[in-house]
Amino acid sequence: MAFSHATIAIVLWLKALQDRVVLDSFKKTKIVATLGPASSTTSVIRDLYNAGVNVFRLNFSHGNHETHKKNASIIRSIEQESSRYVAIMMDLQGPKIRIGVFEDGQISLRNGSKFTLDNNSDFGNSMRVTLPHPEIFRFIEAGAEILLDDGKIKLLVTDNNGDRIETKVITGGILSNKKGVNFPNVLLPIEVLTEKDKKDIRLAEIIGVDYVAVSFIQKQEDIQHVRKFLDNEMKIIAKIEKPEAVQNLDSIVEEADAIMIARGDLGVEMPVEMIPCIQRKIVEKCRQSKKPVIVATQMMESMIQNPVPTRAEVSDVATAVYQGADAVMLSAESASGKFPVETVKIMSDVIIHTENDIDTFQRQQQDKTENHSVDHAITIALNRAVKISGIKTIVAFTESGRTSMDVSQSRPNANIIALTPNIRTAREMCLVWGTQAMLIEDLYSFTQMTQVVQTRISEFCKVENNDKVIIVAGVPFRRSGRTNILHICEIEKDQIVND
Ligand code: PEP
Repeated sequence: MAFSHATIAIVLWLKALQDRVVLDSFKKTKIVATLGPASSTTSVIRDLYNAGVNVFRLNFSHGNHETHKKNASIIRSIEQESSRYVAIMMDLQGPKIRIGVFEDGQISLRNGSKFTLDNNSDFGNSMRVTLPHPEIFRFIEAGAEILLDDGKIKLLVTDNNGDRIETKVITGGILSNKKGVNFPNVLLPIEVLTEKDKKDIRLAEIIGVDYVAVSFIQKQEDIQHVRKFLDNEMKIIAKIEKPEAVQNLDSIVEEADAIMIARGDLGVEMPVEMIPCIQRKIVEKCRQSKKPVIVATQMMESMIQNPVPTRAEVSDVATAVYQGADAVMLSAESASGKFPVETVKIMSDVIIHTENDIDTFQRQQQDKTENHSVDHAITIALNRAVKISGIKTIVAFTESGRTSMDVSQSRPNANIIALTPNIRTAREMCLVWGTQAMLIEDLYSFTQMTQVVQTRISEFCKVENNDKVIIVAGVPFRRSGRTNILHICEIEKDQIVND
């Protein structure tokens, strides 16, 4: 019987669709999606979740407490009706510095003209405008650069007498009310938490946020300061968006729980051509330090308006996957774009296809660490076991998340299931590469653990009689900080409760 081209096309499409569904549950690189006006209803949030979102970002630079509270409760109800955990991230507005307002709303600055930033609260004009941040005046010296409106306008400081910063316009343009100001390469004496941030954090603690992303971090002490302010165990994501943070990267990575490469502001404060190299270095540093890392901003920017991404955007997502980033992030694409769900679907497809590229795991596994610890020896052995035996499932018992993060760091070509008695850890794993969490009761022995694996493994993957899984754990249980067991367990089908 001859099949028409149309029939063949439909069969291939259905097969591709089916593959996508099967593959989707094994997507290793996580997706963070920002919620906003285009994505604040139950049905859109559910569609985003089903399309592959692992972490929802509530951006406190926008929206109000009521909206964030409502979105958080929708997220939790969707989590409850499904089998996969989901994390909530709050992103603090932070100490964004802005100019004051103009008599006519905006002015036009010509290249070569003079322009003053001062502490006079009058309306601005084409000669001057207020900079309502008195603490800044002490730190700006002649020769410094000032960027306005996301770097569109550039000024060079010619003089500063303590309450008037005189400048020459290097790159002019239209400047309107309250535009953002950046001072590249100046370590500013700014408090990392504003009064607004502090109020926002108190709300986040009530609504059950898992990660707090802190804006404009400059140094390690900024993170320590935020940690002291937190009442609960929310994990801290340091946003790398200032050159000072790039300079202090090692100590920031050591102090933070996770890192976001915030390429938007970073690309304003530093020359854009430096961003790819910085991204690669940060991803590598985080991988060595076993800290989750998110590549953020403009990944699918054109999909704010269009139903398909540019080829360059697709390649940008693939590059982050090849580098072994834990997560990729959407901002306006999912918050206010025309195609939020389609964007996540396409992003998931790009991730899956890149991860299926034959060399991906080898590339990601390049081990550059000088590490002689037992944990490290276990992860090397684990990867060899996966490679030689072809076992596709690793189960890691973890209370704090440390063991499963150790496993994830080596980017094994297998699915990682984190068994944890701690709901916080289960949700935190949503940001960790290749890891899905399963909540279990407290365990006291390794035997008890193998029983749990035998009886519950099929909740996560299709298993046949005699299939093998690798179990990784630290014994004795309930003592954090060690991973010292690698055990290969054969599944006995008659022990499986769910099929
Ligand atoms: C960024 O600058 O890239 C970023 C993620 O931060 P925000 O969206 O808060 O500007």
